[in-house]
Amino acid sequence: MEVSQAVEKLMALQSKMSAYRHALSILYTDGVTVAPKETTANRSHTMGILNEEMYKLSTGEETISLLEFLDGHKEELTKKQARMVYLMLKSNRELQKIPMDIYLEYQKLLVEGDALWHDAKEKSDFSLFAPVLGRIFELTKQMAAFVAPEKDPYDYWLDKYERGLTKASCDRFFGVLKERLVPFIAKIAEKPQVDDSCLHGDFPAWQQEKLAYKLMDFIGIDRGHCALSTTEHPFTTSYGSHLDVRITTNYRPHKVDPSMFSVIHEGGHAMYEMGSAEDLAYTVLDGGTSMSIHESQSRFYENILGRSEVFTAKVLPMVRECFPGKFDDVTPEQFYKAINKVEPSFIRIDADEVTYSLHVMIRYEIEKKIFAGEVAIDDLPALWNSLMKEYLGLEVPDDKHGVLQDSHWANGNIGYFPSYALGSAYGAQFIGKMRADLDVDKAIEAGDFAAINAWNREHIWQYGSLYEPDELLAMLLPEGFDPNVYVDYLIEKYSKIYDL
Ligand SMILES: [Zn+2]
Repeated sequence: MEVSQAVEKLMALQSKMSAYRHALSILYTDGVTVAPKETTANRSHTMGILNEEMYKLSTGEETISLLEFLDGHKEELTKKQARMVYLMLKSNRELQKIPMDIYLEYQKLLVEGDALWHDAKEKSDFSLFAPVLGRIFELTKQMAAFVAPEKDPYDYWLDKYERGLTKASCDRFFGVLKERLVPFIAKIAEKPQVDDSCLHGDFPAWQQEKLAYKLMDFIGIDRGHCALSTTEHPFTTSYGSHLDVRITTNYRPHKVDPSMFSVIHEGGHAMYEMGSAEDLAYTVLDGGTSMSIHESQSRFYENILGRSEVFTAKVLPMVRECFPGKFDDVTPEQFYKAINKVEPSFIRIDADEVTYSLHVMIRYEIEKKIFAGEVAIDDLPALWNSLMKEYLGLEVPDDKHGVLQDSHWANGNIGYFPSYALGSAYGAQFIGKMRADLDVDKAIEAGDFAAINAWNREHIWQYGSLYEPDELLAMLLPEGFDPNVYVDYLIEKYSKIYDL
């Protein structure tokens, strides 16, 4: 076979796979948005068939020999083509090292785990979930040993989600957060609380939706390629390629800001997805490269820009317009402070900007201890509660508000949490780079996000998954990533708000 012919086949293969992904995403979104309650079995039937076809397509003999052939001719490929081959082969090669019985047991366990986790959370009883969780962690360790016996198993999983990430680098990162943020949060707790009463009240969903569209337009989301709908938990998904992206939000009837900032957050994810270079469409390089870089974009728009003084001042008139009479007496300063209220809380996804990363740190420390055999699964609630007390000063009332709140472990996403906190920290360092090139505040003041979005597109979005997160970071931050930049940003901003 000629290399050029093989490349043609490679492109056709990816195009076909993206069509399957397109159909599967629509079915998934339908299931969590408008599909009637009793249609799960019908949808599972279709999704099962499509998933099986996709699995066959990506692991079939013909595909593997095509990829191995191209891998053997790496030097004749473009950088993009070589990266496609590498990414497609990587998961196949890993899968081959895991014994089939272990792999199948793990897949079955995850389905069971998810159902048991839902039930345990509803009843707020960790003991119902503990046995299956213990087995998930055991198999997670075993799979790491099969794929990368030379590596520490937790390092293997950290690296799987975020190449280059290790316990040592996480320890350094969280060490800085622990040392500097825990005492800072305690200092804030001693100050009079800011008044956020303007954010509480009755906010009909249709008015919140109107505001959501205004916010999407304001930050420059192209609504011709990105739609908004509602789900219990907000998320972003792309349909087959970066040309069709969907975001969701959730309107709480008595608090206005959660939906506002979830729309901006998911909007950041959506713009990153949509910003891939045109020629990446229908390939495995289309869309964001990793969760931490994704979060660096979503949390950048949500917090660093969205919760800034200049942004909130600009948004207040839109809020007034959407909720007539409700915000007439609220000053921009009051609104800014209300939006930035710091209050330790039990639930990670509701956490404010300052306490958020500490929620992630708790999960990281627990995972690390489980892998090291330093804690028994049955003792996780006690460990969780003691860490919440130590870092956030809170007494956890029950498992539902504690160790059972996230679905990640039930779904096998172990080693995944650190990327959330890292993303926030990367964003804080990216803004320094952006400010060196353009006057960010002036652009927001002028309601002009084009230059901000163009900067992100040029430096991050256009590459899709062409670079690993550590390569992208090295390009953006040649001086190296420094978590102190993030902590400095938080301390400076919130010292002003809380008069410290
Ligand atoms: Zn996110």
